[in-house]
This record gives sequence, C-alpha cells and structure tokens, in this order.
Amino acid sequence: MSLPPGVAYLNGEFVPIAEAKISVLDWGFLHSDATYDVVHVWKRRVFRLDAHLDRFWRSAEKLHLTMPVERGKLAEILAECVVRSGLEDAYVEMILTRGISPTFSRDPRDAENQLICFSIPFVWVLPPEKHGTGLSVAVSEVQRIPPESVDPTVKNYHWLDFVTGLYDAYDRGAGSVILQDRSGNLAEGPGFNVFVVKDGTIATPDRGVLEGITRRSAIQIAAKMNIPMEERPVSSTELFAADEAFATSTAGGIIPITQANGAPVGSGHPGPITCTLAKAYWDKHSDPDWSVAVEDFLAET
Ligand code: PLP
Repeated sequence: MSLPPGVAYLNGEFVPIAEAKISVLDWGFLHSDATYDVVHVWKRRVFRLDAHLDRFWRSAEKLHLTMPVERGKLAEILAECVVRSGLEDAYVEMILTRGISPTFSRDPRDAENQLICFSIPFVWVLPPEKHGTGLSVAVSEVQRIPPESVDPTVKNYHWLDFVTGLYDAYDRGAGSVILQDRSGNLAEGPGFNVFVVKDGTIATPDRGVLEGITRRSAIQIAAKMNIPMEERPVSSTELFAADEAFATSTAGGIIPITQANGAPVGSGHPGPITCTLAKAYWDKHSDPDWSVAVEDFLAET
C-alpha cells in the first residue's frame, strides 16, 4: 500500500513512515487507550509548540500515562522527524499509548507506555483550493460521547461517534459532520471546533469539546481585533440562523462553513469575519511569539 512520505520515531529510533509499526497487543490499538497531539510546521516553522506540549502533558497526566522523555527531548524528537522527512509544511503527531503489558494482564498499570512521533505532509480538513467554497456540514443526530464518559479535553481516538456521523453526513450529501450533545447543543466535528457569527458577535461551545489550539488562536485573534466572542452553549438552531460559521483545526486553520444540512449558512459564502480571522491566523505563522524555526529545537551536536 502506498503511504504519504514521512519519518517516524518509535522504540527510540527514527524510521521511514512505512516501517513505523506497533504491536497488535498495544492497548492503544486494542482499546483506544492513548492520547495524542498534533502540531503543524509551516514554512519550516513550528506553530505554537508550547501550547501543544502543555496539552499533551495534561492529557497524559489525566490518563495516568507516564511520559518517557522530558519536554525538551520531545521537542527535539519532533524537530528531528520534520528535518529527516525533508518537509517544509508538515503535520506532526505525537502519541503516547498505554503500550503492552508483558503478561497481557487486564491491569493497565502493568503496561509499559510507548511514545510514537511522526512527521508527514500537512493535512487539510478542507483542501485550500476549496476554502473559497467552504465546508458543507450536516448536523448529525449521532451524539458526541458525553464528557462525563470520555473527557474531550484529553485529545483521544474515541472517534466512532465521528465516523458514524461522517457516514450519516455523506449520505446527506455533506462533506463533514458536526455532532451535538444530548441537549441539542453543538459539540464539535471530526478534528475541528465550531464557531458561529451573528450580528458581529462570535460564539463557540464552551464544554464537551477539545480545547483546540486553533480555537484558542481564533479567540485570541478576535480579542486583539475587538470582535466580541462568547464561549457558551451554542444550539444547532443558531448555526442554521448564523450570518457566518467556521471550523478551527490544526489541519487547516480557520475554515469557512458555508452550508449546514443542505441550506446556506448566511450568504452561503465565506463571511467577512471568518476571512479576516483566517488571514490574521496565517499572518501569525511568521510571528516569533507564535512560531519558531524547526532548527531551533534540534539538539546541538
Ligand atoms: N476537536 C477534535 C475532536 C479534534 O480532534 C481536533 C483536532 O484534531 C480539534 C477539535 C481541533 O483542535 P486543534 O485546533 O488543537 O487542532
């Protein structure tokens, strides 16, 4: 099978992505017992690495996983994956799985936690040439796993609700899906947070979602521009009645949502606030406060 080009780090070694394989006995594979994070590299600069590492460490702690390396060492490994992969723009993932327990015991404490990292070409929720058209979503009846069951602030691979929702969306002619919580409020989509804009004010769900780093970037950029922003429950009705809507993700930044359940959102075109934020977001990629050259993380050897 052909794979994207890239380089991975596992078992303490850097290997071509095609050789990066884990055991079928790993709890990460058998039970989705893992956490992960994804940072991106744009024009050889790592975007908001500190925020991603903070979240990765918080997630690991909440799952009682032990990080086998120090923070500086992980930054170095990630940079090394990028440099070895030779990519200018990269999707860089770090994963900590529960690992394997030598006796295959049912006690997660017996497993040896495993760190895996890889760098592959940048991945888009919506390809850039389609940003002018925007994302068409369906709001699914499939409920997001409740936060009381799986904490969505721990970045996780519990995606069967998203995948079921995606097939539901495809059946309805949409390109992606947004799941709701049990009260009919918007939660999030497969790999993105959701925002709606009405009368110049932006709103985004405040619970039951991953605290996306791009979500945070959008909130911070809006604050700098004095655009009102509310973090609160957002109903699906608000999406249908919105002037504009957008998704945020490391995999593509600030992405216009122009159709929901087969009807246009606002004008049916990317809205002015969405476009302003998206431009500011990409401009931030050369700001030294938010991005650092990959080489700066490499070990001095
Ligand atoms: N929500 C979910 C469920 C995700 O998996 C992701 C990213 O993969 C996001 C939101 C967006 O988070 P970020 O902006 O940190 O990429």
